[in-house]
Amino acid sequence: MDHDIIVTGGGIAGLTAAAAFGTAGFSVLCVDPAPPVTVRDAEGSDLRTTAFLQPARALLDRAGLWERLAPHAMPLQVMRIMDAGGEVAEPRVTRDFDAADLSDAPFGWNLPNWLLRREMTGRLDELPNVVFRPGVAATGLFTRSSEARVRLSDGTTARARLVVAADGRNSAMRNAAGIGARTTRFGQKALAFAVTHPIPHENVSTEIHRTGGPFTLVPLPDWDGRPSSAVVWMEEGPEAMRLLNLPVEAFEAEMSARSTHLLGPLTLASRRTIWPIISQIAERFWSERLALMAEAAHVVPPIGAQGLNMSLADLRVLLELAEGAPDRLGEADLLQAYHRRRYAEVAARVAGVSMLNRVSMQSARPLRDARAAGIQALYSAAPVRKALMQLGLGARGTRGSGTA
Ligand SMILES: Cc1cc2nc3c(=O)[nH]c(=O)nc-3n(C[C@H](O)[C@H](O)[C@H](O)COP(=O)(O)OP(=O)(O)OC[C@H]3O[C@@H](n4cnc5c(N)ncnc54)[C@H](O)[C@@H]3O)c2cc1C
Repeated sequence: MDHDIIVTGGGIAGLTAAAAFGTAGFSVLCVDPAPPVTVRDAEGSDLRTTAFLQPARALLDRAGLWERLAPHAMPLQVMRIMDAGGEVAEPRVTRDFDAADLSDAPFGWNLPNWLLRREMTGRLDELPNVVFRPGVAATGLFTRSSEARVRLSDGTTARARLVVAADGRNSAMRNAAGIGARTTRFGQKALAFAVTHPIPHENVSTEIHRTGGPFTLVPLPDWDGRPSSAVVWMEEGPEAMRLLNLPVEAFEAEMSARSTHLLGPLTLASRRTIWPIISQIAERFWSERLALMAEAAHVVPPIGAQGLNMSLADLRVLLELAEGAPDRLGEADLLQAYHRRRYAEVAARVAGVSMLNRVSMQSARPLRDARAAGIQALYSAAPVRKALMQLGLGARGTRGSGTA
């Protein structure tokens, strides 16, 4: 056998998986057609950021990643949800969730994706049992009960006991295995970029709802000596395209207004990137010698930092099963166990986050008013608040978790 595991996809999920399995002692090949862009302002760099929720830390630690990431990680202490759906874009209802109400630890940490790629590929270089091959795609999959063969775009074939597909929402491995996926399109796009602002963010992450989708500011370390945040701004497709193409000055005026001037006038501090918003779930998360994880298995709109955190939960289960029975890696009963342990929880989260997204998109005035009243009522009840906060921390696995 060439490798224990082939990880297809070197996005954040695939790189984390390769580092985690490699650190656990498995031999790993990770392939990705796109070379990782590890410089913030380079063409093609991923300007999204990832808010890792609290439980992610132990896994990143086990993968030998946390110590590399910690110096760059911005703690998320308070999550603020705001409704600004009135006549003018002003905050009507604001609810704060303070991590200090639960424990001494923050909710999580925010890190730019381009920097995650730099540190994660650096970690893979340290592991002698991991081979990372950027520039190479997985193009075909042949399995039998004892092994999987993956055809690669360089014309070679690699053999392994298990293929972990982390090759994104259009997963070539999922298609090759004939596993379908159910997709919901919202007609929305998200703009992702960085800003600087005169008022410090004080480690508060803010989600502002008005219409079209939320406008979210997530703390980043200072940039050019000024307080800085990452922004995800969701709007219906044509409006998002209009914003993408606005001259910088006009864009800055619109985004400052949309932010309710919360942190003062916002200055654009990066390129603007644009992402289509869908939710999607694969029909099942396994087939012979194959496990689907991350966006190959499930996609949610970027609300409540659920996407990659769900992917890390996939990885936690796969790793536990692999370490529990290394001799039986990739066997059908273990893959069935993976599916059983993840599917219902993922399906509930996909449904919950999709529902929150629909609520957030509402543009009709009465519905917006109802949303504000809902936020008011929901977050005023102390037990509900606490439950939502714990869900945000990933402590439980039911729907509604995207709210905190
Ligand atoms: C605007 C925005 C903000 C977000 N913010 C957060 C957040 O704060 N917290 C959070 O938890 N989640 C967040 N998410 C979700 C998160 O970014 C995704 O869940 C996560 O990045 C998906 O990772 P992935 O590795 O599965 O997919 P991708 O990043 O799409 O990676 C898939 C990789 O597979 C490669 N690939 C494609 N085809 C092949 C092939 N044939 N063979 C091999 N490789 C292949 C691709 O080149 C790519 O590198 C956000 C999403 C968006 C859109």
